[in-house]
Amino acid sequence: MATGFFTHPECRLHEMGQWHPECSARLSAIEDQLIANGIDPLIHHEWAPLAEEASLARVHTRAYIDFVRDTAPEQGYAEIDADTQMNPHSWRAALRAAGASVAATDAVIAGRYDNAFCSVRPPGHHAEPARAMGFCFFNNVAIAARHALDVHGLARVAIIDFDVHHGNGTEAAFAGDERVLMCSFFQHPFYPFSGFDNQAPNMVNLPMPARTRGMEVREAIDLIWLPRLGAFRPQMIFVSAGFDAHREDELGNMGLVEDDYAWITRQVRDVAVRYANGRIVSCLEGGYSLSALGRSVVAHLKALANL
Ligand SMILES: [Zn+2]
Repeated sequence: MATGFFTHPECRLHEMGQWHPECSARLSAIEDQLIANGIDPLIHHEWAPLAEEASLARVHTRAYIDFVRDTAPEQGYAEIDADTQMNPHSWRAALRAAGASVAATDAVIAGRYDNAFCSVRPPGHHAEPARAMGFCFFNNVAIAARHALDVHGLARVAIIDFDVHHGNGTEAAFAGDERVLMCSFFQHPFYPFSGFDNQAPNMVNLPMPARTRGMEVREAIDLIWLPRLGAFRPQMIFVSAGFDAHREDELGNMGLVEDDYAWITRQVRDVAVRYANGRIVSCLEGGYSLSALGRSVVAHLKALANL
């Protein structure tokens, strides 16, 4: 299988202060591990384009897009949320991150790749249609899913979110939209303190207590996600790929390891192969232990590429 890998150097220039965990070293850690594991030559690298405003506006309000653009400082930092800041490069980094997910969607639908991973930052799944939060500005996965539905005319897409935090922004964008099935698990109670009550029938939220390990997550996916995905028959699958449920990650308190991410990815790939011509676009969300992040992305990519 051919797997695309979308990233851009401008994604590394966005930074939110010296000690902020959502840092550019995350992307370096991923690329180091791709090289160390010998899979770098086996995936196809592409630079992400800047997202067009029309793409952003399929999820976000015009007023919010203008607000983010106008908030970007010429020097120093501008605070947009208690834990989310902009520096002079953040606007273009956010456009590259959203542009990656849209370009990856185009490439996969065109058949240039079977699936693709976007190694980008800032992440997206906490960004609501009119609000930045939790290190996120634009909801990369939601923008890509709307692009697949509205531009390419797909009828049904699934969104898988395995970040340790609930994807409140993605839920806000799609709750009640019957073209979308969103399956997620997340630590609960935990930031952003949403998702434990399913807001709409198309939301399959699995709140899990701290210290939940991979075997329990796999069991829940097997019992709950997979039957729903099979009944929904998605034509394409988008993944909010956060790796902060890893047991070494200090921003979460769950107990997953690389093998769990490989297993989850294989299940998603099996669903995609059965119903969606194999089409998957996965976008990096969280994951803050640099070593665990790099190793987990390798496991995810190996499963995507069937290596
Ligand atoms: Zn997270």
